[in-house]
This record gives sequence, structure tokens and C-alpha cells, in this order.
Amino acid sequence: MDSFARLASFLVETGYMISVVFFILGMKWMSHPASARKGNFTAAAGMLLAVLATLLLVVMNQEGNGNGFNFKGNFIWIGTGLLLGSVVGLRLSSRVKMTDMPQMVSLLNGFGGAAAMLVVVAEVLGRAFNQVDSGAVFYYVLLMVNLIAGAISFSGSIMAMGKLQGFVAGGSVRWPLQRLTNNGLLVLMFTGMLLFFQAGDAQLAVILSLCAAALLFGVLFVLPIGGADMPVVISLLNSITGLTSALTGLMFDNQTMVMGGVLVGASGLLLTILMCRAMNRSLGAVLLGSFQSGGTSTSDRTIDTTIRETSMHDAAVLMAYARKVAIIPGYGLAVAQAQHAVHELELQLEARGVEVNYGIHPVAGRMPGHMNVLLAESDVSYDKLLEMERINPEFPKVDVVLVIGANDVVNPAAERDPASPIYGMPILQVDRAAAVLVVKRSMNAGYAGIENELFYDPKTRMLFGDAKSVLQKLNSAIKEV
Ligand code: NDP
Repeated sequence: MDSFARLASFLVETGYMISVVFFILGMKWMSHPASARKGNFTAAAGMLLAVLATLLLVVMNQEGNGNGFNFKGNFIWIGTGLLLGSVVGLRLSSRVKMTDMPQMVSLLNGFGGAAAMLVVVAEVLGRAFNQVDSGAVFYYVLLMVNLIAGAISFSGSIMAMGKLQGFVAGGSVRWPLQRLTNNGLLVLMFTGMLLFFQAGDAQLAVILSLCAAALLFGVLFVLPIGGADMPVVISLLNSITGLTSALTGLMFDNQTMVMGGVLVGASGLLLTILMCRAMNRSLGAVLLGSFQSGGTSTSDRTIDTTIRETSMHDAAVLMAYARKVAIIPGYGLAVAQAQHAVHELELQLEARGVEVNYGIHPVAGRMPGHMNVLLAESDVSYDKLLEMERINPEFPKVDVVLVIGANDVVNPAAERDPASPIYGMPILQVDRAAAVLVVKRSMNAGYAGIENELFYDPKTRMLFGDAKSVLQKLNSAIKEV
């Protein structure tokens, strides 16, 4: 080995090792809102380092082949890919609205799946496939599992993005024998993998059929999922993409890819489990594609639908003279960009001696951690953000709950109405407080598309309007009380 090769090899190994350390530190820091930004930059720096190390590896491998490095042939492709990806990524991320983040996450996740799928297809096209070496069985199994997972992740993520963006029917789309079709496709793919080893000249055809079946499965797997179940499926698809990165790393003996993939796969799976718990779905049901659909409740329970509005002045008096106030932010707060106005309200109430806390539901908003990110933007102290398990026992001691643009996460039907599509999802039990104020623009439903009897509760008062403008008026009204 000449001195260039030795130095390059040292730099590649060291670069990979540091990048893995950066990934781990980044993930650790991302788990708390105070250090999340630092975590994000650290993980991104780790990824940049891994890309640079890989570029050096390409140079090294070509030099090692004795042909000298072909700058034109390789770097035109690699450079074009890097440039295109960076420009598109930067433009997308700088323009995307906070409320559209789940679509963006889904789309980028789909690209990860597509990359794994294309890597396998490129491998397949570059090989003489009719002479499978029995010693390489493990490699071919890896290759096929990677192809299937990548294709499912790609088509499933694109379908999820289409649903969230409204390109595809957002609710649940069902058809007769739906579960049989999905499970049939899984069996077909498994059989295809076994057939591959006996397929002789038809191996390429088997691989391409596997790819087509997996793409179809991804679409059919996500199609019946709708309403409030979308976050779980996005997180699950994320973890499948992590798996594909780890498998690609194993195929090419690249430890950084294995580590990065395992981290994404494991954290995605953990998030899936946590979200399943938050929505009271079993992971088994998720994996079988037996999500319940959104839609209206079929319950024949009748509720009194009298709406009680209140004035800005009365709401201001109620809050200014309360001892304990709990603020429940939801998707509407994010849409209205009312995070600064709500922080101002909190400071005003505290200046009057009112104890103020925020109740954060794990699936409030449109992405995991949405409310934490939003409130961090306006410098709300993290100690004031109480998770559902912590704030629920406190509600009987709370004088006023202010629900801002939240709906499904405070819907008592989740506890009371077995026919409701969200039945079983743990909620913020705001109706246990002495009084409830709800800020929203109309009586329209939330994401799950269902009626909310909290709004008709005798202790609830409605403050109709855009969250930001209502909070600004409320702030002025409190100053005058
Ligand atoms: P919801 O979607 O249930 O309700 C939001 C409410 O905000 C609506 O009823 C709407 O009523 C109101 N609203 C909208 N815009 C404004 C505005 N400008 N000013 C005031 N109010 C407004 O939100 P939740 O946060 O309660 O629940 C989140 C839902 O989203 C759950 O069902 C969850 O499963 C789902 N989900 C969550 C994801 C996550 O990861 N967190 C991802 C994808 C989905 P009106 O139109 O009358 O104003």
C-alpha cells in the first residue's frame, strides 16, 4: 500500500468513526427541545463528513484498481447528484410551512426508500445473475429484502404525502378482501424470494416482479389508513427506510451506513411504538394494516348541541382572576402562528400571580413534537410544557383551561363513545377543569373529521376567530381588567 492509500484509508476510517459519533450525539441532543437545534446541526455535520469520506473512498478504490482516478466519469455523476439534491433540499426546507412538515418528512423519506431500491436495481443490472453462488445466499437475501423494503417505503411514503397534501383522498379507502390482498402480496413476495434461487435465466424477471409487487404493496398498505392514524404510518415508513440504509451498508460493507440506518430504524420504530401508545393502537394492528379509519361516529348517542359563546371581556376576567390556568395548544395555533401571542398571554397572567402551564398531547398538531417546536420558537420555558400523563391528574385543580386550535386531542368521545373512530386514544381530559374556553374559527371538525361534544359542554365557552387575532384581543382585554 503506497503512502497515499494509507493516508486516504486512515482519513476514511476516521471520518466514518467521527460521523457515527456525531449521529449518536445529534440524536441524544435532539431528544430535548433545548438542545434539539444543536442536535440537528451535529447530525447534519456527521452526514457531511460521511459523504466526504465516501467521496475519498471512491477515489481510493479507483486508484487501487490500478486504472488511475477517472474524475470526469465519476464526479460528473456524483457532483450533479450532490448539487441537485442540495439545491432542491435547501429550497424545499426553506419554503416549507411548519404545518406542512409531515408531507415533507414523508417525501424525503420516500426518496430514501427510492435510493435503496435504485441501488439494488443498479447492482442487479451490473451482474450476471443466472449463476448464484451458494456462498452468496446471504448477500442475495439482503439484496431482495432491501429491494422490497425500499420499494414499500418509496411508494408508501409518496402515497402518505399525497394523502396529507390532499392529492389523494385523505380518509380511509377500503375495498373488499383488502386484508387478503395485502397479506396475499406479502406471501407472493416471500415466495418470489425463494423462487429466485431456482429461477436460472429468469432471475432478473423475478427481481423486477418483486420490485413491482413491493411498490404495489406500499400503495395498498397506506391507502386504507386515514384520519388521525397517519402519524403512526409515517413514523413506521421512516423506520423501514432506516432498515434499508442498514441493509445497503451490509451489502457494501460500509459500517457508517449500517450504524446510521440502525439509528434511524430503531428510533423510527420506538417513535412508532410511542405514537401507537399515544393513540391506543397495537403495533400488531399497524403491521397488519388494520388501522381504523377516520370518519364520523356511528354512535346513536344524542348530545345537546347548544353552543355557548362568551365575550373577550368575560374571558379576560375569568383568566385574570384565576389561580391556575392550563393552555392547550393544537394544530390551529400552528396555522395561525399564534405562538408569540400565547407566550405574551402567559407572561401577562403570571405577572398577575396566575399559575400557567401548557398541556402537550403527543399527537397535537401535524407532526411529533410540533407543539414543543412551536412554543420553543417563542421562548416558552420548557418546564411549563407538561405532558399528558403529568397534566391530566392536575385538571380538577385547574380553574380555566384555554384550548387554542385543538380539537381531536381534547375530544371526550375518545373515552366515552366506543363507536368513535378515535375511541381508545388517550386525550387531555380538559373537561375535568372548572371552566373551559375554546378558541377556534367555527364549529368545523379537526383532523379526524368528527364532532366534539366538549364544545357543547355546559362549562365550555367558545371564543370564535383566528387564534392569533383572538389572543391579541384577549391580551388587550386583560390589560384593561
Ligand atoms: P385538530 O386537527 O384535531 O383540530 C384543529 C382545530 O384547529 C380545528 O378544529 C380547526 O377548527 C382549528 N383551527 C384551524 N385553523 C385555525 C386558526 N387559524 N385559528 C383557530 N383555530 C383554528 O388538531 P389537534 O392538534 O387537536 O389534533 C391533531 C390531529 O392531527 C390528531 O387527530 C392527530 O392524530 C393528527 N395528526 C397528528 C400528527 C402528529 O404527528 N402530531 C400528524 C398527522 C396528523 P376551525 O376550522 O373551526 O377553526
